[in-house]
Amino acid sequence: MDISEILFHLGEDRSEYYNAVSPAIMQSSMFHFNSVNDMRSKLQHELEHPFYTRGYNPTVAQLRKKLAALEGAEDALVFSSGSAAVAAAVMSIAKNGDHIVCVTKPYSWTTKLLSHYLNSYGVEVSYIDGTVANNYAIATKENTVLYYLESPNSLTFELQDIAAVAQIAKSKGIATIIDNSAATPLYQQPIAMGIDLVVHSGTKYFNGHSDVVCGVVCGSHERIKTMMAKEYMTLGAIMSPIEAWMVMRGLRTWELRVEKSAENAAKVVAFLENHAGIEKLNYPFSKHHPQQELARKQMKNCSGLFSIYLNAKSIAQAEVFTDSLKHFLIAASWGSYESLVFPVSALWGSQNYTNPDLPWNMVRLYIGIESVDWLIDDLDQALNKMLAYSE
Ligand SMILES: *Cc1c(COP(=O)(O)O)cnc(C)c1O
Repeated sequence: MDISEILFHLGEDRSEYYNAVSPAIMQSSMFHFNSVNDMRSKLQHELEHPFYTRGYNPTVAQLRKKLAALEGAEDALVFSSGSAAVAAAVMSIAKNGDHIVCVTKPYSWTTKLLSHYLNSYGVEVSYIDGTVANNYAIATKENTVLYYLESPNSLTFELQDIAAVAQIAKSKGIATIIDNSAATPLYQQPIAMGIDLVVHSGTKYFNGHSDVVCGVVCGSHERIKTMMAKEYMTLGAIMSPIEAWMVMRGLRTWELRVEKSAENAAKVVAFLENHAGIEKLNYPFSKHHPQQELARKQMKNCSGLFSIYLNAKSIAQAEVFTDSLKHFLIAASWGSYESLVFPVSALWGSQNYTNPDLPWNMVRLYIGIESVDWLIDDLDQALNKMLAYSE
């Protein structure tokens, strides 16, 4: 299906709402029936028809259709956050007594889920260096039920060979989940490479306007149907109809935004790679990235997210860079219209992110859709201020 068909028409039966071009928002917690018989028959299909909004809502269902189609999946569920989506996906597969093999350093709250939460429900996890696909096979035990991937990872940008890991999993009857937030389905299609479930933080590129927190799980009808009846309706981390509508509005420009952000980022990277203020840079398509070949094999392009190591002798000097930026907001998220800077040293001393195991001179940059020269000038002046700094 053409991407324009997905973004602008799929799931939108406009005759259902007066031929309005923009979809109606079904802001209703429940839907009524004309008779007992009518109710009884609709209840046979609660997961496909309006009954109660914790299970099915027509506006949310429109968004599900579009997101599933973008990933090339049969179906999708949307959640009130990316973390809720990750939790539902993992819990739909791993039960008491099961073992998970997970790539090292996944998203911080994924680590919390696996190591500090599900362990109390009898789920065991091993972290492996995912840059070697066979490490998944090596770490597999008799009770392994799930391989968890995040490629590229959203702080250090290591990749996993997705097709190779999926193949190992299939040969052993093990399920696979990938967090595809960083690459987006525009640049990477894990389902086509054999992955079972794709999870996203829709807060990032899908919504893209820094005003909604959202999560997505994409997969087969079978897996989504089971997840809906269990984790989705039980944990109840659903997206409200009005927020689903907002994400759909964000999606209208999704392709444009991701392309512009990626194009800007490539130009910024080319500038930074030759700057004296940069020691090293993590960007999968860079000629210095150790997995550049794999990146170009499984990704159509890199999105606007990458990290840098500043050429600074102290934290104080490194922080001059971040504090001197005028056009980048200091913030944690990414994927919207505006450029952001996330200094790793800010995590130190925080309760939720102790020992991040990352170097103090690392800073993550997200490049938005602004004029790229305006951003480059800003980075240049901030790096030069940092270089001129003396204790
Ligand atoms: C932000 C993020 C998440 C979590 O999503 P929320 O919407 O913040 O709950 C998961 N994975 C990655 C890679 C992320 O960047």
